[in-house]
Amino acid sequence: MSYPKSVTFTQARKFIAELATSSPVDAISLPLNQVVGRLLQEDVAAAIDVPAWDCSRVDGYAFAMSSMRQSEHEKLPVKDAIHAGTDATDVSSLKYAHPIMTGAMLPVGADSIVMKEHATVTSDHDLKLNQRVEKGAYIRRKGDDLKVGQLVIKKGRRLRPEDVGLLASVGVAKVKVNAMPKVLLILTGDELVSPGNDCEPGQIYDANSFMLRDLLLQMGCEVVAVKRLKDNRKHVSQVFKKLKDKPIDVVISVGGVSMGDKDYIPSVLSEEGRIVFHKTGIKPGFPMLFGQLGQAMYFGLPGNPVSAYTTLCQFIWPALRVMAGEAEMGNLNWRGKITHDVSKSHFRREFMRGYYVQSFDGSIDVTVCGAQQSSRIKSLTEANCFIVLDESQQDVVSGELVRIQPFHQFNVMS
Ligand code: AMP
Ligand code: MG
Repeated sequence: MSYPKSVTFTQARKFIAELATSSPVDAISLPLNQVVGRLLQEDVAAAIDVPAWDCSRVDGYAFAMSSMRQSEHEKLPVKDAIHAGTDATDVSSLKYAHPIMTGAMLPVGADSIVMKEHATVTSDHDLKLNQRVEKGAYIRRKGDDLKVGQLVIKKGRRLRPEDVGLLASVGVAKVKVNAMPKVLLILTGDELVSPGNDCEPGQIYDANSFMLRDLLLQMGCEVVAVKRLKDNRKHVSQVFKKLKDKPIDVVISVGGVSMGDKDYIPSVLSEEGRIVFHKTGIKPGFPMLFGQLGQAMYFGLPGNPVSAYTTLCQFIWPALRVMAGEAEMGNLNWRGKITHDVSKSHFRREFMRGYYVQSFDGSIDVTVCGAQQSSRIKSLTEANCFIVLDESQQDVVSGELVRIQPFHQFNVMS
């Protein structure tokens, strides 16, 4: 079968965006306690005025200014406290001052509030002002924050906890958001052993299943299963045949996409599904495979943990965003000043692991995190960003500005 090989990073992203655009996840209506981190799929308007009635901003006393002025010695008898939650529509304040708590409804006729700290209640239960009170002060008027029908949050917003709070405050109980993309994670390799078991000579612990599953959860996916596959062509083929009919949005396999004798994934995918491209000009992660299996998008990541992590962030993260309905594909890019020389003698796009520090004045210094071998997971744990060196970029000199991509962006809650 013929398909593009060794495409550039930009071409790879384009191929992925095209397929992701035509594979949107469903929009579903969910209660507010399940929507944080998801993309809002509808415009939401306020169902009520906020506040829904005039109320007090402070703990104090509510009264009518004209009644206070006309009273003897500028005193008003204190009566009937109004608490938050009390219906005060039948409380008239023409002759009285009413103790009122923060957020409580203003009684009928009251147009002024004095803070508790600025007034005295005499032994005869009269309210006396200790300082000048401005008419209208400390009153939150009906609709001050939001008016009924006003747009509260626009379609396309990645919902944060504060957005959910806002939706709740206007009485909205459910909203339409994207369904979580259903992802199947497959780890390949005869050598893999789960931590907790003994590693025999030649075997290694399966680190990727843990790291990548958690990364996918952080990216807002539903990881429907994590499967381990031996490097056995027949077995891989049988599993792929079964997967074709499953309701999965994304299949991710890890390992077995390079030039090894038992790297069966590309040939099996071309038989059971479709390859869109194989290999892309990046470092690490060069052997990446992309295609389709049944209705699912298929990503075949290289097995080395740093390569798998990098390709997941650079290719699957943007695809997930597009599938949820976000328009643009770009990762967040900042600039940082590199603290030492870096040598680069190839023409691939390189994603190094870096650690950035931001100074008080906002400027960013960034340092490469030790040895950059793609097997070295420690470099990922030491890092807080990718340092991106473009294809044409060669050796970088200490003090030069480089592009960085902070890791926190790969979290829907960030
Ligand atoms: P592969 O892409 O299958 O050739 O694997 C490349 C390297 O990554 C090999 O050294 C594998 O042993 C290692 N590797 C593959 N899968 C995992 C995994 N799940 N956890 C840790 N290392 C892995
Ligand atoms: Mg392998």
